[in-house]
Amino acid sequence: DGYFLGIDIGGTKMLAALVDAQGRVLIKDQQPTLAAEGEHEVIRRLIHMIESLLSTVPNLNAHSILSLGIATAGILDMKTGTIVLSTNLGWRNVALGPILERKFGIPVRLINDASAAALGEWIVGAGKGTEDCLYVTVSTGIGGGVISGGHMLLGASNNAAEIGHISIDRKGPICKCGNRGCVEMYASGNSIARLAAEDILAGKLGTTPLADMAGHDTKRVTAKLVAEAASIGDPYSIALLKEAGEALGTAMVTIIHLFNPEIIIFGGSVSLSGDVLFEPMWSTIQKLGIEDMVKDVKMTRSSLGVEAGAVGAALLWKYENQAVTI
Ligand code: BGC
Ligand code: ZN
Repeated sequence: DGYFLGIDIGGTKMLAALVDAQGRVLIKDQQPTLAAEGEHEVIRRLIHMIESLLSTVPNLNAHSILSLGIATAGILDMKTGTIVLSTNLGWRNVALGPILERKFGIPVRLINDASAAALGEWIVGAGKGTEDCLYVTVSTGIGGGVISGGHMLLGASNNAAEIGHISIDRKGPICKCGNRGCVEMYASGNSIARLAAEDILAGKLGTTPLADMAGHDTKRVTAKLVAEAASIGDPYSIALLKEAGEALGTAMVTIIHLFNPEIIIFGGSVSLSGDVLFEPMWSTIQKLGIEDMVKDVKMTRSSLGVEAGAVGAALLWKYENQAVTI
């Protein structure tokens, strides 16, 4: 029986997972993306990563690789295997699927990173056994994936569930998608860092721990640093993450009203901030949502963690071709 390879190409790292038919991770590898080096170099390094991973598979002849799945952020054309618009790599119209298919001679499938993670969590992770589950990633950007009625929801051009671009303020700041006030402008890792950096520049932080931790250097402010400062009681950081949580909760209300999920699974680096983000999110949901719809929704943390996207991408071909869950 065969194995499935999945790779999540993120803005900073490429994470590969070789999984078996039960979705168990057998081998994994991680390499920096080095997106600034440009598309050809990233693809060259990606191919090299795949080759060296495959060279470590014991008894590869007996266990053929049945497919290669690639997960990445942005707008994709799954039918042609083209990355149409990658916000974190800066790529436009890159036919990555055909390139890898020619190189490796196996089917290559492309999928949005958050949809991939949703698929992975649903088949083998925290959403296993459910029919209606949502996955939400709060990371560099905010993204989502929807499992509805026991099927993955992809939409007409397979780009459904771009939940980071739900606008919560039509007069808000302009997002790179073109809209204003997208929830991603308030609660993503990029935005938390941006908002904190703006406040440092405006002198609003004074001598709070965050300003000290960053050495008053705005380039050193990351969402991770804000979360660290919050965990030691920095009032500025706690307030910023509360705002982010409330923004997220406002968008979640819309998502819950649309999809009526049984469970919502949270992943992504910013979700590691914990209760300081999730408590304000949860109370916002309870305050603003239709009571009978929001009161029973279960919320949980991703169980596949950083591997969710790679595992889901690996299982995509199997899901499409065998239409079974494990
Ligand atoms: C992108 C999504 C992606 C999400 C998480 C957003 O900015 O628009 O496609 O899923 O970030 O990476
Ligand atoms: Zn947007």
